Amino acid sequence: MVDRICISINNRCNLSCRYCHFYEKKSNINVNTMDVFKILDNVIASIEKNNISVFKVGFVGNGEPLMDFELLKSYLLYIAKYLEQGRIAAYTISNGILINKEILQFFKKYHVNVGFSIDGIESVHNKYRCGTHAKVMEKINLYKDINGKYPSMNCTVGKETLSNADETIEFFKQFNNRITFSRMIGKYGISFDDFNVFLKKATRILNVRTGGYDCTMYGGMCGAGINNFFYANGNVYICGNCIDMKPLGKSEMPFSQLERLNLNFDRNYCYKEILCE
Ligand code: SF4
Ligand code: SF4
Repeated sequence: MVDRICISINNRCNLSCRYCHFYEKKSNINVNTMDVFKILDNVIASIEKNNISVFKVGFVGNGEPLMDFELLKSYLLYIAKYLEQGRIAAYTISNGILINKEILQFFKKYHVNVGFSIDGIESVHNKYRCGTHAKVMEKINLYKDINGKYPSMNCTVGKETLSNADETIEFFKQFNNRITFSRMIGKYGISFDDFNVFLKKATRILNVRTGGYDCTMYGGMCGAGINNFFYANGNVYICGNCIDMKPLGKSEMPFSQLERLNLNFDRNYCYKEILCE
């Protein structure tokens, strides 16, 4: 049963990180005209019909959601009752640049988890993420002031992370929080095996997201087509990495149709990589 979706609300970004697949796939990403309220109506209908205790909604995707904070706010207010009851767990992931006190207080009020993208030590982060390390750290500290703890963080692992593995792990140790490491793909990408060696090492010391039917890019098994779908461009896709493949249908499509999808493959491997080989 579908109990988790990601929604790309705007398809635009204020940074141009070197490894970003958003730029590599730009020809497949349009200005967003999607009716997000209709998707949220489907979420609410499914919660009520199926008595789902917690439905996860990620406002994440191709771009920086906080560039359209007013829009994001309107979506969150639309589901405010469910956020307050804990029946919808909403989250977003930000590059941190536009974060401010008002945004953080709004997220706090509605229990919206905000993850920060930060690629570990300054030299590695700055190489790919437009020299923004100091700025992101400033916003991470603002988060800590408001919430009394550090936020969850997302780190993309590339060659430079591997050659600074100990320093990267040491950097994240100070926050005592949850880290999602994801494998860099595309032209600067690293191998699955190299990524898993790093992940194993990091998991011994840090609280790392890993395992289960999720995504091989995060060290789990491929969860394609099980319970989690991705919305962008007015369409629904298998996952955010499959945006350059044929969509499953229009974004307003009821979840019951998505649940009919039956994908049989070895889930130790990425469904998309299997199809594209
Ligand atoms: S902040 Fe995210 S979406 Fe924006 S360019 Fe960087 S990786 Fe891409
Ligand atoms: S198809 Fe690939 S990128 Fe998509 S969820 Fe599966 S492992 Fe991850």
